[in-house]
Amino acid sequence: MAEEKKPVLKIQAAGQMKKYMADYFYELNDAAKTHNRKIAWCTSVGPAEILRAMGFLVHFPENHGAMLGATRMATDMIPEANARGYSPDICSYLTADVGAYLKGVTPLAKAYPGIDSVPKPDVLVYNTNQCRDVQDWFAWYADEFKVPLLGIQTHRGVTDVTDAHYLSIARQMEALIPPLEEISGKKFDMAELKRVLSLSRECSGLWKKVLDTAATVPSPLTFFDGTIHMGPAVVLRGTQVAVDYYKTLLAELEERIKNRVAAVEGERFRLYWEGMPVWGRLRDHAELFSKRKTNVLASTYCNSWIFSDFDPDDPFVSMARAYTKLFIVRSDEAKEEYIKNMIRFFKVDGIIYHDAKTCPNNSNCRYGMPQRLEKETGIPSLTINGDLNDLRLISDEQTKTNVEAFLEQLEEKR
Ligand code: SF4
Repeated sequence: MAEEKKPVLKIQAAGQMKKYMADYFYELNDAAKTHNRKIAWCTSVGPAEILRAMGFLVHFPENHGAMLGATRMATDMIPEANARGYSPDICSYLTADVGAYLKGVTPLAKAYPGIDSVPKPDVLVYNTNQCRDVQDWFAWYADEFKVPLLGIQTHRGVTDVTDAHYLSIARQMEALIPPLEEISGKKFDMAELKRVLSLSRECSGLWKKVLDTAATVPSPLTFFDGTIHMGPAVVLRGTQVAVDYYKTLLAELEERIKNRVAAVEGERFRLYWEGMPVWGRLRDHAELFSKRKTNVLASTYCNSWIFSDFDPDDPFVSMARAYTKLFIVRSDEAKEEYIKNMIRFFKVDGIIYHDAKTCPNNSNCRYGMPQRLEKETGIPSLTINGDLNDLRLISDEQTKTNVEAFLEQLEEKR
């Protein structure tokens, strides 16, 4: 298929998001310097609402790991962590983030003048709902900073999420409160948790609407846009600014829909991305597809910050339900049902599976899922071998050749 030069359509709301993200990082940095607020580190689908409601500012090491990837700093950091016994085969967010700490560098320094390090935590709080790596990652920092480590152990590989599953998680969430009260020096206030959860629910609902705009033909949004614009849904959920931001972004996308503006001009093929992004290749991958009139427009990954079950009237149980129903927590059977719904809803022609070498937890192509889904739905797929952060595990030429061959296959199928 002929390669055409096609720009990736820019989202105007990006300027507003950049400001909100800068405010977020500077507030954390000020707190770390002045000690005017306590700081908690939290996993990306950890109990951020509880931490925020108890007055903590929240830093997300995975967000920092993704920044290391997107700035292509990660690959040089990983060996530092390897030298401390953390294998090159485990999560490259973990190894890049720990490596950057050991080297005393951060991508925040370049993006936000005046910030020279990540904010030191007063407590680290994880949920193993996504993987065990986060527990080991946070344990390393707890030892390094000599601060408390708290965690939630989630059942994994779940097909049907039952009362027994989420009630046990709700109890673990409640058990976080006494130690957090001690660390924060503040009494837990249920009304504040309900307020924060209500904002988080609203953010989640708006983020879902943003992602769902991609069901329109042509789609006003790409998966690659989503990986950038999900920032507030990850690090600012539970705040008013995240809600404000997604109202602005949604309005812009609805305007595109009204005017039939496509994110990828001449959209010919619509694809679904299953797995982690390749952070150091976001732009390259966006262009690889857009130049071939193909929009990778939806993904499991960006959908991971949709928490439709949040209910401010029943905070702990509804948080437990939402954080346990996540795709990554579930069995292959439940995951396949989910992807089938996505294929239908987003009207996709094919699926790209990213087999990320250092993240088996988000690589769903290793146990026959692509073959089973193709047999059931008739929707073909392509598996790309790579990694979220470690660029030594990526072959750009092979990816390009395989994508071109896959698009030829879709063309012939038409
Ligand atoms: S889910 Fe994957 S990328 Fe995320 S923290 Fe776990 S191992 Fe790392």
